Amino acid sequence: MDRISDIWGTRNPHSRGTTWPARVDLHLDEGLTEAQVDRWVPSACVLCSNGCGCEIAVKDGRMVGVRGRADDPVNGGRLGPKGLYGSTPWSRSPDRLTRPLIREGGELVECDWDTAMGRIAEVSRRLLRERGPLSHGFYTSGQLFLEEYYTLAVIGKAGIGTPHMDGNTRLCTATAAASLKESFGADGQPGCYDDVEHCDAIFLYGHNMPETQTVLWARVLDRLRGADPPVLVCVDPRRTAVAAEATVHLAPKVGTNLALMNGLVRELFVNGWVDEDWVGEHTVGVETLREIVSPYTPDEVARICEVEPEDVTKAARIFGTSQRVLSTVLQGFYQSHQATASAVAVNNLHLLRGMLGRPGAGILQMNGQPTAQNNRECGADGDLPGFRNWDNEQHIAELARLWNVDPLVIPHWAEPTHALQIFKYAEEGSIGLLWISATNPAVSLPESARIRRILGGDCFVVVQDLFRTETAELADVVLPAAGWGEKTGTFTNADRTVHLSEQAVSPPGEARSDFEIFLGYADAMDFRDADGRPLIGWRTPEHAFEAWREASRGRPCDYSELSYDRLRSSGGLRWGADRLYTDASFPSATDFCETYGHDLLTGATVTEQEHRAQGADGRAFLKGAPYHPAPETPSEEFPLLFTTGRTVHQFHTRTKTGRSRPLNRAAPEAWAELSEADAAKLGIKDGDRVRVESPRSAVEVPARITRVPTGTVFVPFHYGQANELTATVWDPVSKQPAFKTAVCRVTPCNS
Ligand code: SF4
Repeated sequence: MDRISDIWGTRNPHSRGTTWPARVDLHLDEGLTEAQVDRWVPSACVLCSNGCGCEIAVKDGRMVGVRGRADDPVNGGRLGPKGLYGSTPWSRSPDRLTRPLIREGGELVECDWDTAMGRIAEVSRRLLRERGPLSHGFYTSGQLFLEEYYTLAVIGKAGIGTPHMDGNTRLCTATAAASLKESFGADGQPGCYDDVEHCDAIFLYGHNMPETQTVLWARVLDRLRGADPPVLVCVDPRRTAVAAEATVHLAPKVGTNLALMNGLVRELFVNGWVDEDWVGEHTVGVETLREIVSPYTPDEVARICEVEPEDVTKAARIFGTSQRVLSTVLQGFYQSHQATASAVAVNNLHLLRGMLGRPGAGILQMNGQPTAQNNRECGADGDLPGFRNWDNEQHIAELARLWNVDPLVIPHWAEPTHALQIFKYAEEGSIGLLWISATNPAVSLPESARIRRILGGDCFVVVQDLFRTETAELADVVLPAAGWGEKTGTFTNADRTVHLSEQAVSPPGEARSDFEIFLGYADAMDFRDADGRPLIGWRTPEHAFEAWREASRGRPCDYSELSYDRLRSSGGLRWGADRLYTDASFPSATDFCETYGHDLLTGATVTEQEHRAQGADGRAFLKGAPYHPAPETPSEEFPLLFTTGRTVHQFHTRTKTGRSRPLNRAAPEAWAELSEADAAKLGIKDGDRVRVESPRSAVEVPARITRVPTGTVFVPFHYGQANELTATVWDPVSKQPAFKTAVCRVTPCNS
């Protein structure tokens, strides 16, 4: 079996309403058989947001492979190329960090934990004394465990009192969260993966599922190959594998998603496909939305987006006349211009048809990373724990009671600071300590050269990671972290399925789990509650989970029914229910909601009074915004659109997948995709080295002639080159960087 080329494996066709047949995928180190494995340790894959249930093979104290869990509701035993080949090789890589490092005389040198943590605590105390809580910034990940996020959230919000805490989830799922909050009042995935089995149409919006969530795509393919397959509609400027299967492929020009979405919403109105009774009973805002979308006729959409007007009406008819539509949305929308407004438009389509909360009628505002959901739930990003509203005094009082601290300690005078602003503050000097865990911003943030300058500047930078990443190389203190399989914790995938991942092996050398590292910092800083007791009252991941159950009780993401025991005996379990909003009751009441919302065009916040005046009180919001062109549009100097994305064989900045020989062989370096027409015009042949320049920088990579739209250049982001070129611009609501809407020019390197 070569799952590098046979990405989705064999087909198991199934028809509507039947259970997806199981198929167990397995990969072990060369020469090993299942019988030789010492033990199998339950977990789930952490190489994308799908969260496929798996078991880790352990032999002689080492992780030597993985096997899918046949009874898991997410994957029925399947694993994709990244899960199979990328899950374990990194763990025994000779370049793992095994001891802390501190910078001495410009060099990173090994030291013991007391020295490293002592240095951090000394700087931290001095900054708190001299400059207060706003001197501290935390930038975390979508790859830690729930228990780690919650512990960090309490340290940051109740120990230090800084609003400067965000995750790299800002880069991948901030818009998913924002769109759910704007439409329904709180985050939380309405649908679930079982909807694939029940739908009669699937719409994928900016979601290259075959390369990002390969196992979910296998599930879709199995429906497509079965009896009564669903109709597939693809919205993506590139001719992806989704487009190849689609009945309608809408390829909007890069940066025009919202115009297309407004056109689709308009078609529902003008063709009488709106369930007026349901909308009247369960939503607010329909008349304003009708007005906003009215100019977006199919011809106008065709003009702006460069698509065929007939394709717009055809896609809208499929949505408007199907009984069960499943929509999935990802980075093509989230990392684009007007991201939240475009993602909200997907929610609008479902709300207008009353198509929510029943089998097959689902929305999956997808996540990019495996544990991004937990970061949003636990509040180690720009949210408060339990989907609480920073602008609601009662929610702050609840947290203060829970943590036994003065409510004034918890930062809530403004929206929490988003990632790009945190780096700006570090650049300007108001943040003096920046703590980065399990992420590599030197590669993944836009305008990499600027980010490297900030990290290498005056700010005291702490990095905890598995390896000496590009970011770690610039740090003042580097802490060696334990990775997946080397620690215990829970995490929640994109359809709210929670898995317990048990420790399978010991971490190398002196590496510690992120949980232990955060506890060590809390101890060193001696954070106390109002009665003088230690602020963090838990010492094990399971106790942290118990604390989280209490923090989430009664909130939309209520974990109080879950426990380690239940997760051990049942495998993956969804919080909430299989589907949210089965009774068409939404978490939108002013006193309960996670946000009072924003103007989708400008990002201006809605006040409590304005929110109350809308009288949503359990009804969903229909919201919209007019289309505006992206901040960068092609010019004579930079005539091409520049967009970035992923490839199936790598994950993020390749910290793990780059250490897997089969994966790295399959995708060893970056490239630039050009259309045949553009390549011919520029005198470029497939494989030629080309120079891609944006207003910020230039990189040299080999060219690939593909079916990207003419006028567009695509570069995968995993390798670093792409973000040398991207711009520091973000969506006004979600604050997610617009990685996909820049401009560039291309020249052959020998010219
Ligand atoms: S689809 Fe995602 S979670 Fe599943 S095996 Fe592949 S990388 Fe892992």
